[in-house]
Amino acid sequence: MTQDFSGFGLPPKLMQSLARMKFTAPTPIQAQAIPLAMEGKDILGTAQTGTGKTAAFGIPLVVRLMEHPEMKAIILTPTRELASQVLATLQQIIPVPDLRAVLLIGGEPMPRQLRQLQQNPRLIIGTPGRINDHLERRSLRLDRVGVLVLDETDRMLDMGFGHQIERIIKHVPQTRQTLMFSATLPQEIVRMAGKYLNNPQRIAVGSAHKPHANIREELIHTAEGEKYSHLLVQLEKRSGAILVFVKTKWGTERLAQKLCRIHHDAEAIHGDLQQRKRERVIQGFRDKKYRILVATDVAARGLDIPHIQHIINYDLPQSPEDYIHRIGRTARAGAEGSALSLITPAESNKWRAIQRLMNPGAPQERGPSNGPRPNNGRPNYAKKRRFGGSHGRDRDQHNRDGQRRDQQRGNEQQKSRSF
Ligand code: ADP
Ligand code: MG
Repeated sequence: MTQDFSGFGLPPKLMQSLARMKFTAPTPIQAQAIPLAMEGKDILGTAQTGTGKTAAFGIPLVVRLMEHPEMKAIILTPTRELASQVLATLQQIIPVPDLRAVLLIGGEPMPRQLRQLQQNPRLIIGTPGRINDHLERRSLRLDRVGVLVLDETDRMLDMGFGHQIERIIKHVPQTRQTLMFSATLPQEIVRMAGKYLNNPQRIAVGSAHKPHANIREELIHTAEGEKYSHLLVQLEKRSGAILVFVKTKWGTERLAQKLCRIHHDAEAIHGDLQQRKRERVIQGFRDKKYRILVATDVAARGLDIPHIQHIINYDLPQSPEDYIHRIGRTARAGAEGSALSLITPAESNKWRAIQRLMNPGAPQERGPSNGPRPNNGRPNYAKKRRFGGSHGRDRDQHNRDGQRRDQQRGNEQQKSRSF
């Protein structure tokens, strides 16, 4: 395997970019994807969270744009924050000033994007909703696109985004290179991906249904009404930045406010906040201005905030894959991290689905994916309490309340999945 980047025949200027980024050796997914993608091959790639998939598609994409001055490229991501992060990474990689990129995401004023589009950017990075808006207004043309990237591919092709992606791809030439990357890839998505890929190379580094090995998983079985006090104990016990996932938008704000009232440093993020606020919250977290971010699944995918040390699943995610993505916000680029899940009896079905994903073919699993872990000194599962019970009803009521409030708060993201 290549020990450093010099074996790929990258342009010297691009080698300098990598040196500035302190990328000395390629990660395994980069080592495999870069040479194939530089040849123009289609790729369906999986590698665990935090292992450098952005540069695995970003480096060859920039090389191809440098080699083919007429060519354009488009990168699609499921969230605005991820699009903006991918742009920042690609801008670090791009070594020439005349290779312009544009960020096309919702919630930002149109005039600026329209102005930037007039300057003929060759790299388009954005979210499907806004890109379709531009296609409809004819302010964006994709007929010169030679490389199409779907980051977080399985999310991009699932029910929430599938139709939008289909509409976008109709505008992209058939003869193109298509690069698809994710940490997870359910079978039905592999089939759907085939529709857009031409003789793809399948690259799989590690398992697409296991969290990164550097993540220490823990769980606490509890009742809905006890979650908050467990959370407080855990916040006291842990040092370093913490990302807490809750199910509803309204729930993120309520929890962050409650924590602030007792002098924790917390902010909330979800899809109904104004874009400027979303940016401020993420930037503040990146800059370590506060310690606890309470988020919906809008923060589950792709975000690379290296100093996050702990993930807490206050509520479990809807889809089992999102468990792997959520906890993958820690332990980035070789670091270590921990992930704690609070599980109520009403969530036992979700927990079992997560276990089935991570242990396919195994009989009923009891502990976290890497085997049983200490559970505050108690045995791992209170088996009999896992079904129904009054806590289950409390829980359902709580969810319904949150979802109703979320609905009342408008449907800004109706066109796609709403977090
Ligand atoms: P993924 O998309 O696989 O979750 P990212 O592309 O977000 O991972 O990268 C995770 C982190 O690893 C980022 O902080 C990035 O800067 C860093 N990284 C990526 N490739 C390298 C490399 N070759 N050497 C050192 N750090 C790297
Ligand atoms: Mg990524």
